[in-house]
Amino acid sequence: MSAWETVIGLEIHVQLATKTKIFSSASTAVGAEPNSHASLVDLAMPGTLPVLNREAVNMAVKFGLAVGAEINRRSAFERKNYFYPDLPKGYQTTQLAEPIVGTGNIELILDDGSRKTVRIHHAHLEEDAGKSLHEDFHGMTGIDLNRAGTPLIEVVTEPDMRSAEEAVAFARTLHSLVTAIGICDGEMSQGSLRFDVNVSVRRKGEEKLGTRTETKNLNSFRFMEMAIKKEVERQIDILEDGGSITQETRLFNGDTGVSRSMRSKEDANDYRYFPCPDLLPVMLSEEQIIELKNSLPELPAQRLGRFVEQYGLSDYDARILSSDLATSDYFEAVAERSDDAKLAANWIMGELTARLNAEERSIKECPMSASHLAELIARLKDNTISSKIAKQVFEACWNGEGSPDQVIEARGLKQVSDSGELQKMVDKIIAENTTQAEAYRAADEAKRKKMFGFFVGQAMKASQGKANPQQINELLMKALEG
Ligand code: ADP
Ligand code: MG
Repeated sequence: MSAWETVIGLEIHVQLATKTKIFSSASTAVGAEPNSHASLVDLAMPGTLPVLNREAVNMAVKFGLAVGAEINRRSAFERKNYFYPDLPKGYQTTQLAEPIVGTGNIELILDDGSRKTVRIHHAHLEEDAGKSLHEDFHGMTGIDLNRAGTPLIEVVTEPDMRSAEEAVAFARTLHSLVTAIGICDGEMSQGSLRFDVNVSVRRKGEEKLGTRTETKNLNSFRFMEMAIKKEVERQIDILEDGGSITQETRLFNGDTGVSRSMRSKEDANDYRYFPCPDLLPVMLSEEQIIELKNSLPELPAQRLGRFVEQYGLSDYDARILSSDLATSDYFEAVAERSDDAKLAANWIMGELTARLNAEERSIKECPMSASHLAELIARLKDNTISSKIAKQVFEACWNGEGSPDQVIEARGLKQVSDSGELQKMVDKIIAENTTQAEAYRAADEAKRKKMFGFFVGQAMKASQGKANPQQINELLMKALEG
C-alpha cells in the first residue's frame, strides 16, 4: 500500500451545442474553411458589440438543473485579459465573481459498484478562443477564428476525486450527462469536452492539501488516466527525494506519454479581470427556470434506475447500457422487440460491443439494426437456431447479408428439431462408435458424465452444429442408457 493519497479536482470546458456563437450570429459548425465562420464580432473589429445568445444561457441553466445546482438569478460577464494570437479581443469574455451556476453534485458509480458524490464548485459561461495552426505553415502560425466565440461552460469541481479511475469515472459521467440533456455533442476528438486536471498528493492521514499542478486540455479518457498516473508518480518521486512541488501548468502529450511544464501557475490577479461594460448582467426569471426544468429529458442516473427496475438488469449492466442515449435507445428497442431484456443486454454488451470496438465504430454506426438483433434473439428463443449458429448468423447480418431470417434461410442454418431425423443421426453415431458406447455403459456415473460429451460432439459435427442440443442430449442418453 502506498503511503500517499492522490487528490484530484477537475475543470472541464464543455462546448455548448448552439447553432451560433455566444456573442455573434456566426455559425459554430466545425470543419469549415478557416475564418469562414468568424463575424466582425468574433474578429474583434472596433465598434462591434456582443449580443448574448439566449440558447447558450438556457443550456448552462439546464446543466445546473441536471446536477441539482443553485441557479443564480443574476450572473455577470467579466473580461479576462491576456494576449494570445487566437484571441483577437485581447481578453476572454467569461464569468468570475458571479457565475450562472452555483454549487451542485454529480454522483458516480465506480467499477466496484460503489457510489461517490463529487461536489461541483460552480459552472460559468464563457467564450472559446480560436485555434493556432502550426502544421501547414513553415516558420509561421496560421490563425483560424472559426472556434472563437463558441459558447462554453466551464465546470469546476471540488478536489473530491482520489484516483485516476475516479477522475475518469467522473469524466464519463459528465460526458453522458451533457450529451443526454442535449447541450453538447460529446465529440471528444473534436475537443467538444476538454479536461484540465489538478493533481496533488499528500501523506495518508494528512489533512492539508498538497501543492497541485494543472495539466491542461486533455480530450480523451485514456489520456486523462495516463496523465494523472504519470503526474502522481512524478510528484511522489520528488517528495520522497526531499524535494517540493512547484505549482505550475503542465502539458501532456498523449502520443508520446511525456508531460512537461508549460508555465508557472498564474493567479486571477494576473488577468486583471473587470466587469465587461458591453454586456448587461444575465437575469433569470422563475418561469424561465421552471420551463427549462420541465424541458429536461430523462437523465442518465434516472434511466439507470429505470433499467434496473423495468428490465431487471444488474446495476452493472444498467450502468453500461444507460450511459449514452444511443446505446440506451438501441437496448430498449431490442429488449422490447425480442421481449427478452436479459438476452438483449448480453448480446449488446458481448458480441455487438466487441465488434463495434474492433472496428472502432460507435453504436450510431452499427451495421446491425436493433430490429435485426431482436429477430436473431427471437430465433434463438424459439429454437430455430442454437446459440452457436446464432453467432454465425450475427456475423452474416453484420456483413450485410440481410436479416437473420434471410440468412438462416439462405445458408440453411435452421436447427434440426425433427425427432425422426435426429434419431437416425443418433443411431448412426452409436453404430459407428460401438467401442465408446460399450465403454460408456461399463463406466460409473462420474466417468459417464465426461464421456457423454464425446457423443454430443459427434452429433454436432454430423449436423454441422444444427442439431437441437436439448433433443440430441435426450436421444443420446436414451440410446446409451436404454
Ligand atoms: P484557482 O483559483 O487557482 O484557479 P481553484 O481553487 O479555483 O484554484 O481550484 C481550481 C481547481 O483545482 C478546482 O477543480 C479544484 O478542485 C482543484 N484543486 C484546488 N486545490 C487542489 C489541490 N491541492 N489538489 C488537487 N486539486 C486541487
Ligand atoms: Mg479557479
